[in-house]
Amino acid sequence: MNPAETATRTGDEARWLARAVDLATRNVADNGGPFGAVIVTADGRAFDGANRVTANNDPTAHAEVTAIRNACAALGTFDLSGAVLYTSCEPCPMCLASSLWARLDRVVFAADRHDAARAGFDDAEFYEYFETPVEERTLQVTRMALSDDAAQAPFMAWRSVESRVDY
Ligand SMILES: [Zn+2]
Repeated sequence: MNPAETATRTGDEARWLARAVDLATRNVADNGGPFGAVIVTADGRAFDGANRVTANNDPTAHAEVTAIRNACAALGTFDLSGAVLYTSCEPCPMCLASSLWARLDRVVFAADRHDAARAGFDDAEFYEYFETPVEERTLQVTRMALSDDAAQAPFMAWRSVESRVDY
């Protein structure tokens, strides 16, 4: 990539990120949290998402997840390989995991987790969760054995379907 192309790409990226920040600001007036995101595909199509947690009583309706859902629904795919996620704020662990599942190429954010904490959005405890020894975690997640190894039944059913769509 020559310097001129690099500059163009950087300018485009700044515009997408500014769009995500603008979505976040406007979302506040629309009863949403101050978070916005834009998914941009390799061929330049863009899909917006804004935080709708309190508006929809949906704790998973973060801007990034909403943008992923909108992009996938519009494109008719569950695989966003080649796309980039621009988000107004550093993604939380859920949105990071969603980005991995969506196979996004990159994530670019504006404000960071400390900026969010100052506004009352502190997901530090979620990051710390993964760094805390399993037995000390606030949310206990435990495995329970079922008789006859019943937990394997869904996977056996899945593997027996030849028309399955692997993901
Ligand atoms: Zn999130």
